[in-house]
Order: sequence, then structure tokens, then C-alpha cells
Amino acid sequence: MLDPAKAGHVAPDPANADLAGAVLTVDLAALCDNWRAMRAASGAAECSAVVKANAYGTGQGPAVTALRAAGCRTFFVAHPHEAFLAKAAAPDATIYVLNGLPPGAARRLAAAGVQPVLGSLHELAEWRREAGDAPAALHIDTGMERLGLTAREAGEAAAQGAGPLSLVMSHFVASEEPDNPLNDRQITRFTELSALFPGTRRSLANSSGIWLPQAPHFDLTRPGYGLYGGNPAPHVRPARPNPMRPVVRLEARILQLRDIAPDDTVGYNASWRANGERRVATLSVGYADGIFRSASVGNTGAPQTRTPPHMGGAALVAGVLCPFAGKISMDLLAVDVTGVPRDAARAGDMVTLIGDALNVDAVAARWGTIGYEVLTSLGQRHARHYVGTA
Ligand SMILES: *Cc1c(COP(=O)(O)O)cnc(C)c1O
Repeated sequence: MLDPAKAGHVAPDPANADLAGAVLTVDLAALCDNWRAMRAASGAAECSAVVKANAYGTGQGPAVTALRAAGCRTFFVAHPHEAFLAKAAAPDATIYVLNGLPPGAARRLAAAGVQPVLGSLHELAEWRREAGDAPAALHIDTGMERLGLTAREAGEAAAQGAGPLSLVMSHFVASEEPDNPLNDRQITRFTELSALFPGTRRSLANSSGIWLPQAPHFDLTRPGYGLYGGNPAPHVRPARPNPMRPVVRLEARILQLRDIAPDDTVGYNASWRANGERRVATLSVGYADGIFRSASVGNTGAPQTRTPPHMGGAALVAGVLCPFAGKISMDLLAVDVTGVPRDAARAGDMVTLIGDALNVDAVAARWGTIGYEVLTSLGQRHARHYVGTA
């Protein structure tokens, strides 16, 4: 389960891991600590784990195995095939498929003991027709307008009898914004609509929802992002440090160092020009490894570099924050290491792209996206090291 090569990725096999251009280290002990912190913050509610999208890029098999050992017994994924993998890693766990019931999937899900989160009356009817009294979750929309029954449809389902439901749930639109009035509106709607299904367990909160002052924990919470180190409460005032431990560290190798003469340019389209004597390190990762090309840093006005207001990417080289220089290539990227003492950065050294001050939220801000996208874009050809246990 821990061998990424067997997961069908292009990661190097363990014997050749030292030859990879970059090393992705996933701290499973931190993952489990974050889950325990989420569980503690969830009050009396059960705390599940959302492991969709390959556990936010960190590796679903290792994540489910570790979280199960830590005591997690309910997992959410997006697709049936992700659910089958999760069930194999945690046979005694309850596995929910958030994206609902694809046509023709009911019997396979029921046979595997996997539960869809039914998101429409059509899916509910198909599930009951094909899976009989097998339990499922029901998704009620409270404002996202994406998946889930409308208030009227929820009333219809309740009136005609929805069959055995293990869970009724909804999803927040803006729970990372504690002052957004949508939160109260959704909590009220969910309280009213879930009452149509008395005795059924209820779930509303994602990572940020767990930390809202209203504590909308109901019976089950559904953290994802925070488990992987993202800050679940980025906008609380007064600001406080991220309560989660970092889980992901990405380090890339320096292939070469070059002294750049004034006015020489670096990389495709000459988008970065040395404004004096500069020293540049070429790293062995690029946009094919999940380093967004839109994180390129230019200073010549060439297009597609650093769309304001985001700053563009940076690396920590011997502890010094060094901005990217020029367009990110497919397999390579250049970093301006002029500020690093000459003997502190050598060919072969590893530099940090995600880790320490460059935590996932900070990286996302620099790259002009959110930490969720940074994580789920983590490259497939890094050497992957899993450290720590539950
Ligand atoms: C992804 C997802 C979650 C987890 O959200 P985070 O913000 O990552 O904690 C919870 N519920 C649903 C319906 C989701 O799609």
C-alpha cells in the first residue's frame, strides 16, 4: 500500500528514488494529529476524514491506512472507484461517495458495502430500485446550488419515504469566512430541512465549518483540507496561528548554478532580465510536477508571468526565501539565489518549495490559487516518502 509505483503513478521505484528530481515527504503522524485536533474541535460529533482526489494529492492508500489506525471510521471520497480503494484499505469503515450515484452503479456500490450521497430525487429512486433497503446518505442543498435536493424535493422525499438513510448532509458555501451571513442562513436551513428525516444522523461542517463560532457540528464532521495541513480558520480575528501541523514537504534538487551578467535574460521568452550581477539556480522540477506555470516571475513585461496581484513562486534555499526567475519550464525552473551565500547553495543540494515558511497557504497565495489546488496538483513523478504512523 505504501509503494507509490504500484499505484500506477510515474514515481520512481524505491531503488531509484534517489535519482528523482524532487522528493515529496508526507508526514502521516502529522496527518493523524490533525485528525485528532479536528476530532477534539468537533465536540461530541464523530469526526470523519475526506480523502477524495487521492487524499488531496498526498496518497489515498497511506492516508486511509494511517487514519484508520488513528481511529477514523468514516471516510468520504468523490467517486466510486475511490470508494472501492478506501474500502480495501479500511474494510470496517463506512465509505461515502460525495458525487452521488452514477447511472448503473447502484448494484456495484451496494455489493461493495459503499454508500452514495444521493444528490437528487432521480438518484434516490434509482438507489431504492436497484439497492433495495441498503443505507445511503442524502444530500440537501442549502445554498450551493450544485448537488443535493431542493427544499421542495426534500419535502417530497420525506413524504413518500426515503428508505433507510444513514446520514443527511449539506455543504457550506463560505465557511472559511466566519463573518459571512451565509453561514447562519445555511445552518438554519439545514436544521429545518434535516428535521424532515427524524432520527437520521446529520452532517454539515467541512474543515472550516468545524472552527466556526456557531459550532455546527451536528452528528458527524467532514474535514478534508485541514487534515493535510491547510489552515481551517484563515480569517478569524484576531489572527491566530494555523492549528494544524504541516503534512507535506516538497524539496527539489539544484541541477546547476549560473552567474548571470547584467541585462542577460533567463528562460523562455526572455521574461526575466538580470538587473545587475545575479546568481540563478536551476531546479529539477517544472510545471509538469504541479508547479503552476502561472507562478512564473517576470520583470520584462512578457505575457503570462505573475498576473498581479499574486507575487509569483519562491523557494527556500539554505533558509533564504528566493523568488523564481523567468518562465517555469515543463521540467525545470530557475530561482534567483543571489541572496544566498555562495558556498551555501551547491549543485545537488535540495531546496524547499513547500515546507517551513512556505506552507501550503503561503504557497497558494504566491501562486495565485488556494492550497486545495496546490495539494491536489502535487506531481506524480516525485520520489514519495511516507514518514510517521498513527
Ligand atoms: C471536499 C468536501 C469536504 C471537505 O472540505 P474541506 O474544506 O477540504 O475540509 C466536505 N464536504 C464535502 C461535500 C466536500 O465536497
